[in-house]
Amino acid sequence: MKRKTQTKTKKEKNIVFLDGEYVYKENAKVSIFDHGLLYGDGVFEGMRSYNNLCFRLEEHLDRLWESAHTLMLEIPYTKKQLQDIVIKTLQKNKLKDAYIRLVVTRGSGDLGLDPRKCKKPTIFVITDKIVLYPDTLYKEGIEIITVPTVRNHPEAVNPSIKSLNYLNNILAKIEATTAGYLDAIMLNHQGYVSECTGANIFIVKDGQLLTPPSHMGALKGITRQAILDNARDAGLPNEERALTRHDLFNADECFLTGTAAELMPVVKIDNRIIGLGKPGKITSKLTTAFKKLTKVEGVKYSL
Ligand code: PMP
Repeated sequence: MKRKTQTKTKKEKNIVFLDGEYVYKENAKVSIFDHGLLYGDGVFEGMRSYNNLCFRLEEHLDRLWESAHTLMLEIPYTKKQLQDIVIKTLQKNKLKDAYIRLVVTRGSGDLGLDPRKCKKPTIFVITDKIVLYPDTLYKEGIEIITVPTVRNHPEAVNPSIKSLNYLNNILAKIEATTAGYLDAIMLNHQGYVSECTGANIFIVKDGQLLTPPSHMGALKGITRQAILDNARDAGLPNEERALTRHDLFNADECFLTGTAAELMPVVKIDNRIIGLGKPGKITSKLTTAFKKLTKVEGVKYSL
């Protein structure tokens, strides 16, 4: 009897990967001198697996490598090795469906900024669940606002870098939540729409699917790309184009995309009703197509 209880407790414990080892999350400790913690110096990816398929894992790793390259942060694994680590973490936790967080920090250094003092990056993988928005909003659509904090200038911290420094987005999130909304749309330094705090944004206007290009301050979202691929496959006219708030207000449909958010219809922006004030037909079609894609694309694993 006693043995059974012990096995169960062990099974329920979450195992993470940290610097070459698989350990229980309670035992996963990083140094307070880690520059990821001291300065937000590092990169990360948020991924998902659906029914034993890690969605577009290779694309996530490509983006991680690009982020790290710009920061001159050398990842001490090959992409294939890191892919195997992600899969093994999922397997150890017996997770068919999961949200996966892969983090590479500059590592432990001294109290100065100089990254050369950090001799070895810290790498960890967490597999868990994530809920960004209440379930009902996926049917009803979300109401969001634009906020005063502008998206990082591309020559400051380029928004294409998925870095550990999320203060830009966090400030915008605070502005949204203190105003009573769940999320914010950020404009760039020129006043054009960039993205949300943790998701990309799309509109549909006169049968055309539009999203801001990455140089407007949008992360090259993996979900965003999947939606564009689906639109192309379905023959739905689409374009990456600079968008203003006026374009958003007068869109027929609007939705957000992200690994954690998936597809979230937007029905009101800055108190303006979008389209019919409910999730649009093209949004629903793209949601169905995205769900299909998550069943077939990615790295398969067994448990
Ligand atoms: N923009 C930002 C700022 C994000 O943090 C995310 C989530 N990673 C996205 C967009 C969506 O990207 P993806 O579809 O790759 O998750």
